[in-house]
Amino acid sequence: MKDYTFIAFDTLCQIQIFGDLDQRRFHDLACQLEQSARRVESALSMYDSNSELSELCAAKTIDKWLPISELLHAFLIENKRMYEWTDGVFDPTVGQTVKLWDFLSEEPKLPDKDKLAKSLEHVGFDKILIDTYVPRVRFLAPIDAIDPGASGKGFALKQAVNILKESNIKSASLNYGGNIFVLGNKPSDDKESNDDVLVKWRIGIFDPNTPHVQHIEELYNEGISTSSWYEHGFELDEKVYHHIINPRTGYPVKPEFSSVSIISNDAFYTDLVSTPFFLLGKTKGEALLEKIRTDMNGVLSLRYVAL
Ligand code: ADP
Ligand code: MG
Repeated sequence: MKDYTFIAFDTLCQIQIFGDLDQRRFHDLACQLEQSARRVESALSMYDSNSELSELCAAKTIDKWLPISELLHAFLIENKRMYEWTDGVFDPTVGQTVKLWDFLSEEPKLPDKDKLAKSLEHVGFDKILIDTYVPRVRFLAPIDAIDPGASGKGFALKQAVNILKESNIKSASLNYGGNIFVLGNKPSDDKESNDDVLVKWRIGIFDPNTPHVQHIEELYNEGISTSSWYEHGFELDEKVYHHIINPRTGYPVKPEFSSVSIISNDAFYTDLVSTPFFLLGKTKGEALLEKIRTDMNGVLSLRYVAL
């Protein structure tokens, strides 16, 4: 097994490739994956004022078609679809509101109420038109910031998976800040085993309320992403405030579960779906999965584990 880690999206990204692979080829592949993640980050980051997405919002150009990169185009199209599938509950234009909550701060505090209300005036993905065929967008009203946080890591992960598949890698495990994708068979400890024996990967999901792994999920050529309230949040006056925001109120949604994990054969979709499922809860979340399966003509496998 060969292993490589780098930091992107403010988190650890880990690549493990199994099987016969010389050091030089591994190094080339690892560099390609890192560069691809950096390209995604420099197009999308909300905290980098020079990212393509930040500059697009900062320009505040209204009623004019603006050319964008194919990368950003592909990202925005799927995010807008999710906005529509969820009737606006999933809405990355909530960026300025998320910034006001400042969950990354060492000493988080409640945001100013007036500022929070004001930030919501510029929220709404319906204010952005995306040309389906040509990579360009048109703002109907200004948007302060678009937050790629709900699906950016998954987007980068999918690109990494595609690079590995095109490079004919048969067995690998990728972990981009908790968004995991496993390619092919898990190498067996059994020396006699060969490629014909299907060995699935076993991924554990933790629950903060129990001291041990709460659930084991078996994966094969699939990814898993988890949305939860307990990883990015803080407690104040016995109330929990976390990072998944109802775009209508500007406040964190009342969680129905500790975490929800989405498992899919598409690494982008695991991340993209986990956040709205957490926002919607079980009944509406299940209906969302059904809607996506139907609209995608069954090419996407989707299941969930809620703890
Ligand atoms: P993680 O960031 O831990 O991988 P998620 O994939 O669930 O977790 O993404 C949560 C992030 O989504 C938040 O930190 C925030 O940046 C963004 N977000 C919060 N509320 C919404 C929302 N209503 N619609 C879209 N994105 C949101
Ligand atoms: Mg997500």
